[in-house]
Amino acid sequence: MSDRVDLVILGSGSTAFAAALTAQEIQKTAVMTEERPIGGTCVNRGCLPSKNLIGAAKIIHDARNPRYRGLNACAMDLDFAALVDACHQAVEFEEPGAALATLLAAGVTIAKVQLSAALVLRDPARNAERLRPWAEDRWFHQVVARGADGALHQVPDLPEALASQDPAIRTAAEWRVHFHVPLFARELDADGALRTTQPELAALLARPELRAVEHLEIETYSFAMIPAERRAALGVPTLLDALEREMHWVLDTLAAARGAAPGC
Ligand SMILES: Cc1cc2nc3c(=O)[nH]c(=O)nc-3n(C[C@H](O)[C@H](O)[C@H](O)COP(=O)(O)OP(=O)(O)OC[C@H]3O[C@@H](n4cnc5c(N)ncnc54)[C@H](O)[C@@H]3O)c2cc1C
Repeated sequence: MSDRVDLVILGSGSTAFAAALTAQEIQKTAVMTEERPIGGTCVNRGCLPSKNLIGAAKIIHDARNPRYRGLNACAMDLDFAALVDACHQAVEFEEPGAALATLLAAGVTIAKVQLSAALVLRDPARNAERLRPWAEDRWFHQVVARGADGALHQVPDLPEALASQDPAIRTAAEWRVHFHVPLFARELDADGALRTTQPELAALLARPELRAVEHLEIETYSFAMIPAERRAALGVPTLLDALEREMHWVLDTLAAARGAAPGC
């Protein structure tokens, strides 16, 4: 192969293949680079895997609801492992522990439980500015506002929630924000207006059903986005400091729930 090419294509997804084919049509040479598995999103993570799931769901639905007379409905066995994300569920004002029990009772295998806690802000009409330092744009931080009547209102990202003039958002009783915060932290300011969903996580860890799950994972990817002064106030300037305390908190909470000695 020559060490000179006409076109260098970054990536190997659908767009890259279209570019390579076009280069070939006009007698140009092309080389493709890839930092992840060849094929890009569609083949590896997008269109094909999602269509497999949709196709499998249709087969199960058709078996349960046959279109033609003379066919008896039957329930196909489903061996589909689910992942329970404690942070996302708490943000949606669901109880992760109750959800886990419901899924297991329905015969769903739980492959993994992600142990994670979200941000909670009480009385956003007065306290919303406390979340301003958390409004960074590397990740989406979905916000769910719950009114005094219990109605839920979703906002795609924290900056939008902070800028919102919608009374349902501004005057909600509470906001929950998707932001992975250290598991050992329960309150994040002196008066408790900014806290975490640690109580919901502790309730999940106390569920006896959790013994059926082999893989528990602590999620830390947004650690670097936690405001530096907050990390310092929590006594965890580095990710390793935080991880160590999170693991101890999980082990101690599990041990307390199971009547064992701390750290076991
Ligand atoms: C769940 C899901 C379902 C979907 N279903 C459909 C569907 O039914 N129909 C449809 O038309 N579309 C669908 N899509 C959208 C479709 O997958 C994307 O539009 C398509 O994959 C985009 O192709 P692309 O080549 O632009 O990018 P990608 O396929 O994302 O490829 C980009 C590649 O570039 C690589 N890369 C990035 N930076 C570099 C670098 N610096 N060096 C080397 N490599 C690099 C990445 O690793 C990646 O593999 C779906 C997407 C998802 C997530």
